[in-house]
Amino acid sequence: MYDRSYLKDKKRIVVKIGSSSLQHKETGDLDYIKLDVLVRELCNLRNQRKDVVLVTSGAIAQGKKAVNLDPEEGKRNPIAVKQACAAIGQARLMMTYQKIFAEYNQVAAQILMTRQTVDNDINRKNAQNTFEELFLLGVIPVVNENDTVATHEIEIGDNDTLSAIVAAMIGADLLILLSDIDGLYTDDPRKNPDAVFIETVEKLDESYMKMGKATTGSSVGTGGMNTKMIAAKIATSCGADMIIANSEDIRIIHRIIDGRNFGTLFIGNKDESFDLPAYVNELHK
Ligand code: GLU
Repeated sequence: MYDRSYLKDKKRIVVKIGSSSLQHKETGDLDYIKLDVLVRELCNLRNQRKDVVLVTSGAIAQGKKAVNLDPEEGKRNPIAVKQACAAIGQARLMMTYQKIFAEYNQVAAQILMTRQTVDNDINRKNAQNTFEELFLLGVIPVVNENDTVATHEIEIGDNDTLSAIVAAMIGADLLILLSDIDGLYTDDPRKNPDAVFIETVEKLDESYMKMGKATTGSSVGTGGMNTKMIAAKIATSCGADMIIANSEDIRIIHRIIDGRNFGTLFIGNKDESFDLPAYVNELHK
């Protein structure tokens, strides 16, 4: 078994949570208990003086809920409707986060990004400066894609990739992807009972990338295992470790940092020749 005790020394941690992990399956409404535990975990990391970033989805899903969107209505102009729902839902989501962060006496900030934030050298530098300044101020940035301005052609599209981009941009040393699955399997465990769980990926090669393609994600968010493998590629190439773990019990965050064996750990393997903007551009061709 790989010794994970070094994880307690991580200094800059990005945690990503998807829409499906934040809401009640039956109703689509926010699960306040989960949100509360999530925020408490992040504040507790901050209390250990670690730099912490939350990448959260849920804007579109919560916007749809707020206006009680009729699925037929959604077909009228699917992108514009999603963008409108994101505009509604992002503000509501942030309001809820802010309330809970305030309960723990923690200041949080909102950063909304698009692909241009990665692509454009000036935008990227500006975003990096903002993150650095927020860390110095002891603030937890809460990040999502700026879905209201990201058109289909330029969007990052899924928050798995976005969270890895954030980790790369800020030089994080750990990215935790909270998902509705325990981690990486050799095949989709929901379809293949012989699928084997993988605890550690020391070197991310093509065979692992293929495993990602064989599996699917949930119907609420956009990321399946494939986008998680893309995230792993970005994060590990930039030198960060990454863990895919199950969001069912969000206290898994401190258990991971304690070095306990949860989820699949991808070991960072810094590749000096890795070009983040070029890699992200290639994904969208
Ligand atoms: N940015 C989208 C939202 O907040 C979700 C993207 C994703 O599910 O990964 O609604």
